[in-house]
Amino acid sequence: MTDHGRSLKRDGRAVDLRSDTVTKPSAAMRDAMVSAEVGDDVYGEDPTVNRLESECATLLGLEAGLFVPSGTQSNLAALLAHCGRGDEYIAGQDAHTYRFEGGGAAVFGGIQPQPLPFQDDGTLDLREIEAAIKPDDYHFAKTRLICLENTQGGKALDPAYFARVRRLADQRGMRVHLDGARLFNAVVALGRSPSDFGQYCDSVSVCLSKGLGAPAGSVLCGGSGFVKAARRWRKVLGGGMRQAGVLAAAGLHALTHHIDRLADDHRRANVLAQGLRRKGLSAQQHTNMVFVEGLDTASMVAHMQKGGVRVSGIRWVVHLDVDDDDIHHVVDVAGALA
Ligand SMILES: *Cc1c(COP(=O)(O)O)cnc(C)c1O
Repeated sequence: MTDHGRSLKRDGRAVDLRSDTVTKPSAAMRDAMVSAEVGDDVYGEDPTVNRLESECATLLGLEAGLFVPSGTQSNLAALLAHCGRGDEYIAGQDAHTYRFEGGGAAVFGGIQPQPLPFQDDGTLDLREIEAAIKPDDYHFAKTRLICLENTQGGKALDPAYFARVRRLADQRGMRVHLDGARLFNAVVALGRSPSDFGQYCDSVSVCLSKGLGAPAGSVLCGGSGFVKAARRWRKVLGGGMRQAGVLAAAGLHALTHHIDRLADDHRRANVLAQGLRRKGLSAQQHTNMVFVEGLDTASMVAHMQKGGVRVSGIRWVVHLDVDDDDIHHVVDVAGALA
């Protein structure tokens, strides 16, 4: 039995599974924003930004943090702080830092990427990393940095893997950056603490604007020398904001109230994948993402849209503005695709 009519009637709103970036700040988050104490953050005088930076660094077990407008700028500031002109970073072929950031490291820093294929579990193979490190010879770029991603396509990478990458990086005099846009999804899925990952990294970037539900912002954490260098790059990149405490307050609210609840997103994504499979569709779930395979993308997107469900491709993302009824509705609509 379908109930599209009833679901669509809920203020006529579509269920939006395009990304966890589409979440809107809750009433409680907006209250926190309204009452935030603020100052000029470029002068280091915004108490709410300062609190967000230090709380986030503490969570990750790192010395300092830097509030930045976006995850893209966070990764770019990290690359510019770790690498100079003619240096190289190793990253996944489909990593955000390589594929989805407009080549920023090359554009602004003269930094060369060395992409490697992600393994099925979202890791980079250690032997492949090792083989990609260039010898110290003036024919080659200097391989300075390994960039990891967690979660990677929704897959949670275990701290034990980070320990192995750390060992390799130390042996070869390299640094490790983690693009942890969705690190808290890995934290919750694996039942670990953020510092279990942070302890093996020189720098970690986390997004507040994805599953954590803040309207904007990322925090880049690392050692105090690194963060000082990144702060300079943030200004150069035009990311120095002024009374940014109104945004930082949303981030602090998210860190306090929206981490543990990511488990609800994972549970709902699992229910969604199981429901789709019961309808005869092929669906894989990793944390808050469901990958719906084997269909013609354009007609799938159009069909779902007609049923009041927005998707942009095979990746359907569950987030804090999706509830149990929404999941049932999505399964009902998708059933006709089988
Ligand atoms: C979204 C995302 C980013 C970038 O964040 P923006 O705030 O959209 O610039 C970086 N890395 C990963 C893995 C992401 O999913």
